[in-house]
Amino acid sequence: MITAKTLKLSIKSLRDFAKKCLPEETLLDLDQRDECPLDIVRHMCDPDQLGIQLLFIPEDCGGFGGGAFDVYCVCEEMARIDLGIATAVLATFLGSDPITVGATPEQKKYWLSRIAQEGLLFAYGATEPEAGSDLGALRTTADRVMQDGKVVGYKITGNKQWISNGGVADAYSVLANAPAGPCWFVVEKGAKGFHHDEPEDKHGIRLSNTAALSFDNVYVDADRLLGGVEGQGLIQAQLVFGYTRLMVAAFGLGAGWSAVDRAIPYSTKRIQAGAPLSEKQGYTHKLIVPHVARLEAARAYIEETAERIDAGEGSLNTEGAIAKYMATESGNGAAEAAIQAFGGYGYTREYMVEKIKRDVRITTIYEGTSEIMEMTISRDRWQLHLKTRGQHYHEQAKKFEALHLEHSNVGADVAALALHALAEVMEKARIARLTRYQHILLRLGELIAYAECAGSLSRRAALAAENKLNEKSNRRFDATALAALAQIFAREAALKVAEDGLRWIAGAGGVSSAEIATFETSLGLPAIHRAQVGLISDMDYIADVLYGRVAKAQRAA
Ligand SMILES: Cc1cc2nc3c(=O)[nH]c(=O)nc-3n(C[C@H](O)[C@H](O)[C@H](O)COP(=O)(O)OP(=O)(O)OC[C@H]3O[C@@H](n4cnc5c(N)ncnc54)[C@H](O)[C@@H]3O)c2cc1C
Repeated sequence: MITAKTLKLSIKSLRDFAKKCLPEETLLDLDQRDECPLDIVRHMCDPDQLGIQLLFIPEDCGGFGGGAFDVYCVCEEMARIDLGIATAVLATFLGSDPITVGATPEQKKYWLSRIAQEGLLFAYGATEPEAGSDLGALRTTADRVMQDGKVVGYKITGNKQWISNGGVADAYSVLANAPAGPCWFVVEKGAKGFHHDEPEDKHGIRLSNTAALSFDNVYVDADRLLGGVEGQGLIQAQLVFGYTRLMVAAFGLGAGWSAVDRAIPYSTKRIQAGAPLSEKQGYTHKLIVPHVARLEAARAYIEETAERIDAGEGSLNTEGAIAKYMATESGNGAAEAAIQAFGGYGYTREYMVEKIKRDVRITTIYEGTSEIMEMTISRDRWQLHLKTRGQHYHEQAKKFEALHLEHSNVGADVAALALHALAEVMEKARIARLTRYQHILLRLGELIAYAECAGSLSRRAALAAENKLNEKSNRRFDATALAALAQIFAREAALKVAEDGLRWIAGAGGVSSAEIATFETSLGLPAIHRAQVGLISDMDYIADVLYGRVAKAQRAA
């Protein structure tokens, strides 16, 4: 267990370390030279130095036994520093996951203690040239080596692609097909027949080493088969997705905020047409405020999911997918807008926003692409829709209507409109059997993510008003600002669900031209349009908060 105080101290040490060892010039230089700063990564994982990996190692293996919430906080902070270095640390988190969920007690003790005490760097070897999103297509094999009728070891043969830490790790978790099905093995560097390629020349995260691996009859003892039973590999991989996708979600959040936090001060100094850009509404309300609302909606969802994982609610794969989808898409959007916010400077390599934009792009690809997230979300919630005879999201909406009676300013009523509209869209899709179109299924995934995140941000704003936020929760915004953000995002979500929903249902032939007006009413479109009233003044307020104008006015009063 990690206390809020310890977590705060760990984050402060990380920040101090970055300030000292990774100033912007160093990061830009390493990026330009396409170099992974291995000494820095090793320092971060050295238990006598930063020992960042101790956070997720259980206490009985020499770590601090941190939970999902702690890991999210640290991942966000690492991403704010550099997403490539964060990925190097993440690879050890990922590489040890098959151990955490699937290994025998002895294997767990052996490997996790070594990661804690020796700072072993791990890599996670799942992807192959022919098996990316569809891991079931993997071709790497693990043939049994028999002695006296007993399995004494395995010979691994195959190729892995785009493996983070691939060229620098001390040990590798490798997914391979044994006779009884896929399983995870640990292969140590230097094993005979094991090779890694030169690092990939990547678009972004150039401080992270990414390499292809090849295995040519690499022998491992039978005790390197994690869990000791063949065929459990894909199940073990599934078991940690909720948790690992939350980490990547935190990366999207941290990188997105890192870009916004550069655009804000820049715009206070850049004078155009006689005044700083920060005073131009057409600038702040396009390039800053909506991105902040989306990032904070993603944060609300991440925090709720992390709390639920820590409370033992299971692996929460769908929630992990929603968190990852919203945070990484929002992080990308924020970084893209930050380039625009810097104008021509943002387009040059001298400015960090250009690097952040290239870096954050990976978060919508690794640990499951955005399209795979849409599919995961949609399939799961579709089942809920069917099981509840279309009532799941109507029931959720009622909870937000009740919340609105207690907190009238947190956008709960508008989140409820989004959820009711979502239920109607899904029901129309059911009646017209539209999920036979894959595009409709995936678009539903997006709408579900927006509606659920709107609900989370409303709930978070209400908790803040009651002073009941998790003590580890991010406190950048007070209750009033969170309420304004929740209203901004709920309006966007409701409009998106209803209008995009209408578009895709009509587009796929789910309603005829004659039925459109009735469908619009059932979606609550008039109410959703009325809910947009007040949007600009909430955006003005958030701009004032971000630029310290609210605090200044309060001090003056
Ligand atoms: C820098 C970097 C680091 C990485 N690190 C690791 C690592 O450490 N360990 C590891 O195992 N892997 C790692 N990966 C691999 C990463 O997880 C995969 O790239 C990712 O899962 C996507 O697989 P793919 O590249 O084969 O794309 P594909 O699966 O071929 O997908 C290509 C496109 O098609 C879409 N698509 C795929 N399937 C469907 C479908 N059924 N329906 C509709 N659309 C679909 C995808 O969303 C994507 O847009 C890394 C990749 C990169 C680039």
